[in-house]
Amino acid sequence: MAKRSHQRTLADVAEVRGIGLHTEAKVTLTLRPAEEDHGLIFRRVDLPGRPLVPVTADHIDWENLSNRTTLTAGPAQVITPEHVLSALSGMGIDNALIDLSAPECPAVDNSAMPFVEAIEAAGTADQSAHRRVITLTRPLTVRDEASGAEVTAMPSERFEVTFFAEYPPDYFLPAQTINMRVTPKAFREQVAAARTWIFAEKIPELLLRGLGQGGTRDTVLVIGKSEFVTEARCPDEPARHKVLDLIGDLALLGRPLLAHVMARRSGHALHAKTVKCILEQIDAA
Ligand SMILES: [Zn+2]
Repeated sequence: MAKRSHQRTLADVAEVRGIGLHTEAKVTLTLRPAEEDHGLIFRRVDLPGRPLVPVTADHIDWENLSNRTTLTAGPAQVITPEHVLSALSGMGIDNALIDLSAPECPAVDNSAMPFVEAIEAAGTADQSAHRRVITLTRPLTVRDEASGAEVTAMPSERFEVTFFAEYPPDYFLPAQTINMRVTPKAFREQVAAARTWIFAEKIPELLLRGLGQGGTRDTVLVIGKSEFVTEARCPDEPARHKVLDLIGDLALLGRPLLAHVMARRSGHALHAKTVKCILEQIDAA
């Protein structure tokens, strides 16, 4: 049996400031400690009544999952929550109130490292309640036939992620695979610093759709036909960032997952669908 671990929150308040990758809006994100069984909840402190946007599948904004994840609760949106959620999940934080002063989370360098450093600066505190983890009774697979993307989740006593970054050969992106048992140490060392990336030829379309307005050469890895157009932090930074995104999107389950999740070429929309399928399996059990 997997060891029963205790819930964890932050020991203090921590702040991350920046602009949103897509909206370019200035924003302050404040991580606050929260009580047991609170979960992860955003609070839009710039809106009247400071509405809450809980990090659960019920609040996925299914219309806005291309190139970023979006959460919504009534008029309150939270855009690009995946990197801060990845940091919280990767560092084992179950309970936190996340204040946001604008619709989109700060990009900083478009990795999870600024949030990991904020969590480390605040410190963490174990709570008395045990974690209520999600376990699977059988494997499940979700697919996007058009793109060939696929996610399989296998029952496991630990949280493990494998990402196969295999794309058509028209880009400078040799096949890359990252496998990781998700622990705070592994998360920090292996994926936290990997930044968002994009294929160069997709940029004009992205900008036309009003996205990516806050991206810069230093904060986005741009991949061309024969080379990295901007400098990579490591050759497999793209696959590492995909693991980061997957962990962040799986936080939408609302509770820690014990499973081995294997993903091929998937993005936010398929990750959200995976969350929905996992929850359906649990409801049916
Ligand atoms: Zn990302």
